[in-house]
Amino acid sequence: MARQCQICISKHCEEINRALLAGESNRSIASKYGFDHNAVQRHRKHIPAVLAKAKEVMEITKSDDLLEQTRDLLNQAQSITDEARKAGDLRTAVSGIGQIKNILELLMKVNLEMARMAEAKGTGESRGPIQFVQMAVQQRDD
Ligand SMILES: [Zn+2]
Repeated sequence: MARQCQICISKHCEEINRALLAGESNRSIASKYGFDHNAVQRHRKHIPAVLAKAKEVMEITKSDDLLEQTRDLLNQAQSITDEARKAGDLRTAVSGIGQIKNILELLMKVNLEMARMAEAKGTGESRGPIQFVQMAVQQRDD
């Protein structure tokens, strides 16, 4: 058995993951938390997939493209769910609703992030997408 990763079992694991995702160097993290930089390098592979994915999403949000794609995804999920419901396939419908919820959450995060960036840039262009999400969420909430 390979030796357990010292960073994974460290109480700083979460902080270190965040620092890694934020692009901090192995050496800087290693010296900050008292690890060997090779250990930090090895630990890079242990960052939970969810976190890495979230980071990816944040990167992609820099393009409006993701918003379009997410909307498409949402439309597809909604129509599949509707069809499943009409066909009496409740299992698929329920899982479809779960997917819609996930997509809406993603869309919200994307929009919040875009709003933050737009604010930083001093433009008001994020208003449209935000309203779209608010509408979509309200529809699903009742
Ligand atoms: Zn690790």
